[in-house]
Amino acid sequence: MQIQSGPLPIRSVEAIPVSLPLLKPTLMGGGQKFTHSESLIVRLEAANGLIGWGEASAAPTMTGDLLPGMVAAVNRHLAPLLLGADALDYQALGERLARVIVGNTGAKAACEIALHDLVGKHLGRSLTEMLGDPLRDAIRVMHMLGNPTQEEDLDEALEKQRQGYRFIKLKVGVKPVAQEVELACALRDRLGADFWLCADANTGMSYAQAEQYVTCVRDAGLLFLEQPFRDDELAASAALARISPVPLCADEALHGLQQIRDWHAAGAIAGVNLKTIKLGGIAPTMQAARLSHSLGLAIDLAAKLGETSIGTSALVHLGYTLPNLDWGINPVSQYLADDLVRQPLHPEQGSVQLPRGPGLGVEVVESQVRRYRVALD
Ligand SMILES: [Mg+2]
Repeated sequence: MQIQSGPLPIRSVEAIPVSLPLLKPTLMGGGQKFTHSESLIVRLEAANGLIGWGEASAAPTMTGDLLPGMVAAVNRHLAPLLLGADALDYQALGERLARVIVGNTGAKAACEIALHDLVGKHLGRSLTEMLGDPLRDAIRVMHMLGNPTQEEDLDEALEKQRQGYRFIKLKVGVKPVAQEVELACALRDRLGADFWLCADANTGMSYAQAEQYVTCVRDAGLLFLEQPFRDDELAASAALARISPVPLCADEALHGLQQIRDWHAAGAIAGVNLKTIKLGGIAPTMQAARLSHSLGLAIDLAAKLGETSIGTSALVHLGYTLPNLDWGINPVSQYLADDLVRQPLHPEQGSVQLPRGPGLGVEVVESQVRRYRVALD
């Protein structure tokens, strides 16, 4: 590829809502059932014809972002900032996107990721090269279990172990606590001591349930329990942390740097789940990672279930670049029945390779984007 320099004016910004089927329905903590992904795809086109792509999943119970609102946020507030601007000013543009409208971190993330992709393609540099240097040769990929029965969960876990995975997340806060404890202990028994196990309640537990879970599951050696309570239940989480043999992780509670500071100061967490959709893009995620590192917090880097290889590739580049990826990475495009890129990112041997090529390193198939585009009410 010929490396370009000089200004890179943006001539079009398109916000495209898509819905793709999952390979199978997945139960999340708290009992939510997902059959399809819903994502906002952002397509930036520069005056020289280069195209940059970004993505953010709708996440009504995490960011509050719904597809119609995400599209409106781009069309009414974010696109006017980008149109005609020089994409090479992507860092300053990212900061302006963050300030021009409150919230809407998903829409901001999709635009900011697309800016990085566009600039990377223009400069002939991969996203990892734009962010720093790759710090590792492989990343430990988490596999999420969320089947109706324990037998299915055990079978799937063993199959994943055969495929090379060494990390599983259990969705909890769904079934009776005793059953969820039994599953964790059975998995530890079958998978061995070297295998990472963690659990995510997605805010679905009462204090009594969480206390019972962390106490009874002690021997299963969980790496962490994620977000047992609602995002405003800091005091309860701090109380649980004081008695829990399992380290706690915050996910839904984190919407920016301030919550990381607050939850850390309260002694409520040992680590954080960082997502571009919550923080507003790549640069804010890097910033949150650096803050977490300085506070001694572990990081679990995650995409939101259903994001395609566009959003997932941004996550994977971050995963190879961040220093404190102590709690692994959760790419999600492998849970989809189809994808929007020519070579979807799928884990192999429990890792996922760094995408090669400039920008995100994925080749988006525009006919696939049109195929899965949805009309909004
Ligand atoms: Mg979570």
